[in-house]
Parts: sequence; structure tokens; C-alpha cells
Amino acid sequence: MTDSALRALKNAYAVLKYATPLENTDCGTICGAACCSGNKNDCMFLLPGEDELVKRNGFTVCETQGNSGYPAVLCNGKCNRNARPLACRFFPLFPAVTEENGRIRVKAIVDPRASVCPLTLENVEIPRSFKRAVRKAGLYLTRDSEICAYLKKMTAELLEISELRSRLCGQKY
Ligand code: SF4
Ligand code: SF4
Repeated sequence: MTDSALRALKNAYAVLKYATPLENTDCGTICGAACCSGNKNDCMFLLPGEDELVKRNGFTVCETQGNSGYPAVLCNGKCNRNARPLACRFFPLFPAVTEENGRIRVKAIVDPRASVCPLTLENVEIPRSFKRAVRKAGLYLTRDSEICAYLKKMTAELLEISELRSRLCGQKY
């Protein structure tokens, strides 16, 4: 991993260390911690270089499809929360990265893969403070070119899923 990637990842981890989707509330109490109820076959996608960080913290990394060639971390529904990967810190949002006229833009969007989360329902407003934290983490991440390219690619895929779902079901994200 390059110094630039390590710096970007560590800054993003720090920004999202205490940020949670609902202010002053453990959102896991409203859904039985649905997003952390995985078994040994569940995994969370890792960002470029993040596998090195999570391995140091005792996570098991595996190959996966659908993550642009990057690995994932196995999730058996329990982990050291302080060391959880970025995908878990962003959830149910994602830092969408687009480029317009050579300018990088970052926006926290609802991740269309997060349908297990009740906070993604249309009538629920995720607090701005959490959106801001996810965006800020995304801004740090774009400072590394490989991570930035990864986020742009994932963003395109997620927007495509959202668009398709919106056309098929009238569901908005
Ligand atoms: S599924 Fe959503 S509401 Fe439930 S614990 Fe995860 S982030 Fe919180
Ligand atoms: S890795 Fe940890 S935080 Fe992430 S989904 Fe699994 S149990 Fe939850």
C-alpha cells in the first residue's frame, strides 16, 4: 500500500470512528442490528489497500466478485467495532464520487445495496451530521488516485442500480 492510500484510509477511518447513522441512538436497537447479522458466507467489500489494514486487526480477507478486483472481509456478525472496515462505517450510505469538468465531487448517497436497513425507507431522513461525515471521509479518500478511481467506478455501478430500481419499482434513492 502506498503512503498516500494509507493516509487517505486512516483519515477516513478517523472521521467515521464515532459517526453513526442516527444521532445519540444505537440504530441497531430498531432493527436487531440487521446489517451485522451475517454468517460466515457474508462479506463486506474493501477499498484498495484496506485489506492490509483489516488483516492487522484480525479480520479474515477473501477474494470476491463484484468489487472491481479488490477483496472483501469475511463477516460472521461479530467484530471489533473500533476496527470495522469502511463499508461498515459508511452503511447505509456510500460516498459517491463523480467528476464534472475535471472537478471531483463527493456526495453521500443511500447505497442501493443496503435494502436490509430500515433507514433507507423513503420516509426516513438520515441525519445531516452522518451524511457530512461520510462525505468528509469520501473527500479524504479521493486524495489517493487508486482509491478515487475505485470510488468513481463503484459510484457508477450504484447509480445504475438505483436508476434501474427507480424505473422498475418507482423507488427513489
Ligand atoms: S441495518 Fe441500518 S438501522 Fe440497522 S443497525 Fe445497520 S445501519 Fe443501523
Ligand atoms: S464486519 Fe463487523 S461492523 Fe461490519 S457488518 Fe460485520 S459485524 Fe457488522
